[in-house]
Amino acid sequence: MKKTIQNVEIEVSKGDIANQPEIEAVVNAANAQLTTGGGVAGAIHSAAGPGLYEECKPLAPISPGEAVITGSHKLPNKYVIHCLGPVYGRDNPADKLLGNCYKNALKYSEDKQVKSVAFPAISTGVFGYPIKEATRISFNTILAEIPKLKHLQKLKFVLFSEADLKIYEAMLDEV
Ligand code: ADP
Repeated sequence: MKKTIQNVEIEVSKGDIANQPEIEAVVNAANAQLTTGGGVAGAIHSAAGPGLYEECKPLAPISPGEAVITGSHKLPNKYVIHCLGPVYGRDNPADKLLGNCYKNALKYSEDKQVKSVAFPAISTGVFGYPIKEATRISFNTILAEIPKLKHLQKLKFVLFSEADLKIYEAMLDEV
């Protein structure tokens, strides 16, 4: 499902964030040490190869809400933007910290004049953020940031499950 908002095409689709060849920058739902692991970070690091962690190492640790940008190594993209989402129930205020992830990721993409970016549902896996609430925060944040971006033409949300996709589609339908 797609919708154009202020000249930026917003797409929600089901898929693997590590397999988005048409996208310039993909976002990693990272951990503080920027290491591989499960979920999104595992998929990104295994597709990118060990060079990604070598580039990440000196940039770690990062704090909740923070982002860093690296090359993509063996991934089919140009950049990886690593965001550390809040652990739900531990890192507070969770809504602000989660919003900061999206905001900082878009700031980096604008700095690099990126035209297309893809996000996973940050914090909604092991970090336990309730998906509906996280979806609302991601949309509110990107909608507030889009008017400030001169280069972005496409923003894609890549969801891993049919249930998450349905929630994102309902939200895109509303805006
Ligand atoms: P976090 O630690 O920030 O919660 P996770 O990687 O555990 O990050 O999960 C974030 C979300 O990404 C979850 O909804 C999970 O189902 C989803 N996910 C897991 N693997 C992938 C993947 N390869 N591509 C896209 N989304 C994924």
